[in-house]
Amino acid sequence: MTRLLFIIILFVVSYLVIKSFLTKLENSKKIGKQRTANTKMLKCEECGLHIPEHEAIRQGDHVFCSLEHARQRLE
Ligand SMILES: [Zn+2]
Repeated sequence: MTRLLFIIILFVVSYLVIKSFLTKLENSKKIGKQRTANTKMLKCEECGLHIPEHEAIRQGDHVFCSLEHARQRLE
């Protein structure tokens, strides 16, 4: 009898752990999507490519997609 109870508890606990894990995973996916949607896009002054703000290379007021383009433009 004690053994059966133990198995049931084990089952319930593992179910809860898996469920909370899946919920976390789902939430992190949602947050990731929201972040992508809210990302400001900036235009490279050298080639015109649009890049997310956090990936852009800034040189004063100028915005570039890569260090190479920043160098090409400012040399
Ligand atoms: Zn560029």
